[in-house]
Amino acid sequence: MVVFTACSPSDEEETSDEDKVHITVSFSILADIVENVAGDKAEVDHIVPNGGDPHEYEPVPSDLRSVSESDVFFVNGLNLEQWISSLVENVSDTPIVELTEEVEPIEVSEGVHDPHAWLDPDNVKLYVDKAVEHLSEIDPVNANIYEENAAKYKERLDTLDETIRDKTESVPKDQRSIVLSENAFVYFGDAYGYETTGIWELNSHSEGTPRQVADLVDRLQTTSAPYVFLESTANPVHMESVSHDSGVPIYDQGLYTDGLPIDSSVDTYYEMMEVNARAITNALSE
Ligand SMILES: [Zn+2]
Repeated sequence: MVVFTACSPSDEEETSDEDKVHITVSFSILADIVENVAGDKAEVDHIVPNGGDPHEYEPVPSDLRSVSESDVFFVNGLNLEQWISSLVENVSDTPIVELTEEVEPIEVSEGVHDPHAWLDPDNVKLYVDKAVEHLSEIDPVNANIYEENAAKYKERLDTLDETIRDKTESVPKDQRSIVLSENAFVYFGDAYGYETTGIWELNSHSEGTPRQVADLVDRLQTTSAPYVFLESTANPVHMESVSHDSGVPIYDQGLYTDGLPIDSSVDTYYEMMEVNARAITNALSE
């Protein structure tokens, strides 16, 4: 006996690729956050490759194509992606949305805001809301799905926040000092009660000058930080000089700040924050 199974397109639950919303985001961490909201209703591409620096990037022609063919281009904003101006000048009708629009920015020097707002999971909930708002406009049919996905993900972000708080609270108060190449943990420090400092303030063309290295070595004389850290996306040579000159060792687990790594050892924002919290707690409790 032969059984014929009929299947009309309306029976199919999966959204075909053609129907999907096309989203481009600037870098890997945003891709993971937005994928949690979009679920299987959208394709998400990111421009800066894993392990790359989202502050400084040279767009290539395929990036322009990717943004042009997308329904929306989500960026962090707060002047993180200084390279997008050259890209977006050539893209006429793809809306560009800054996911930090509702975040309360922290000023690090006059008129300059720290862009690393994602290093506080509470801020990421605001990124999620912004993504839902725009995806629901682009694709109103699936608006309730985006809402549901977002609600679930925000619950997980609350769990992440509690996990980080539980861990980091165990570090003695006078050892709560996160020292990195780039001072990227300002929002994290603000959320969990840590001092933060770097060889330089924000990634730019002047990173790791002899003056910056010497200044940090001086500052380390007055702190009791048991370790300094290296971020996964930074050139290690500058922090190696700091460590050599100050005698403060580099902790062997690096911190993730500006992107997910090239290997898939850590492939979500959630996981990278867990790794960061564990490394900070273990290193600074010693
Ligand atoms: Zn950075």
